[in-house]
Amino acid sequence: MNNPVLEIQHLSKSYGHIRALSDFSLEIHKGDVVGILGPNGSGKTTILGILLDVLKPDAGGYLWFGKEPVSSSRKKIGALLEQPLFYPYLSAVKNLKIVADIKGVSYNSVDEVLETVGLTDRKNGKYKTYSLGMKQRLAVAATLIGNPEVLILDEPTNGLDPKSIALIRDLIADVASKGVTVLLASHLLDEVQKICSHVAILDKGVSLHAGRVEEVLNSALRVEIKAEDMEALYKIAVELAFVSECRKEKDGLVLLLKEDINTAEINKSFADRGIYLTYLSAGKRSLESYFLDLLKE
Ligand code: ADP
Ligand code: MG
Repeated sequence: MNNPVLEIQHLSKSYGHIRALSDFSLEIHKGDVVGILGPNGSGKTTILGILLDVLKPDAGGYLWFGKEPVSSSRKKIGALLEQPLFYPYLSAVKNLKIVADIKGVSYNSVDEVLETVGLTDRKNGKYKTYSLGMKQRLAVAATLIGNPEVLILDEPTNGLDPKSIALIRDLIADVASKGVTVLLASHLLDEVQKICSHVAILDKGVSLHAGRVEEVLNSALRVEIKAEDMEALYKIAVELAFVSECRKEKDGLVLLLKEDINTAEINKSFADRGIYLTYLSAGKRSLESYFLDLLKE
């Protein structure tokens, strides 16, 4: 297998006594669209800041393209961490030419990236006349100058209206479909579900789960059960080998299963132990319930 595009190894970071990140590791391969999903304050921006060399980790490290990061590898990365500063009285074209100058690349890609983000019509209009959505699209365009191999985006749709959100998401999917590797931070589950191939779920600086989105989606079966004697049911359920987690919810028990066991076998396991289920409902967990459950723990 090829070297990962990015190998993050055991990163930790504290701000004074605030532990923002603990032992965070992740591997990203070419063409992956990876979402770091976590609530506000979970450490997402800290990770991206470290990867872009804006912040120093207390421990751990990372390799870009299989090597210790050097400035030539950074040239292959386009990033949107904070709102970039554009000149309000200059057009999109002029602003992007300035970005190209800063990156030390030719102006060749300016028109192309404006086309990609759908700003060709307005490319000569002054930045200050743009809507918020257009400003954000220009910010994404700026990251694409110089044909980066990797795109890093921090909450790219924050504060936008639904139409602009949809445009930005389509844009990211479009860029990714051309083989660009994307790492994005988001607190929005549906954003990650819609555009990411992989996800790392982060809470309080700790990675709770990482993998392909659909694997995370299907990684646990969720079963709800009831019986006349709920106490006896609970005692048996927690002892069953295929149950990874058991908790009381409303008037039933929710079981998370380690493996794909069919409902007949579940029923039998309880019957064999002298308990008859009065209710059994099985379903794959959505990433949403998974995310919410993880955060509850
Ligand atoms: P996220 O991007 O997921 O919202 P951050 O990485 O910004 O999370 O922050 C993680 C934690 O570190 C939070 O508790 C935040 O308050 C804290 N933090 C971030 N930056 C600083 C800083 N410069 N000084 C002190 N604490 C910080
Ligand atoms: Mg953040």
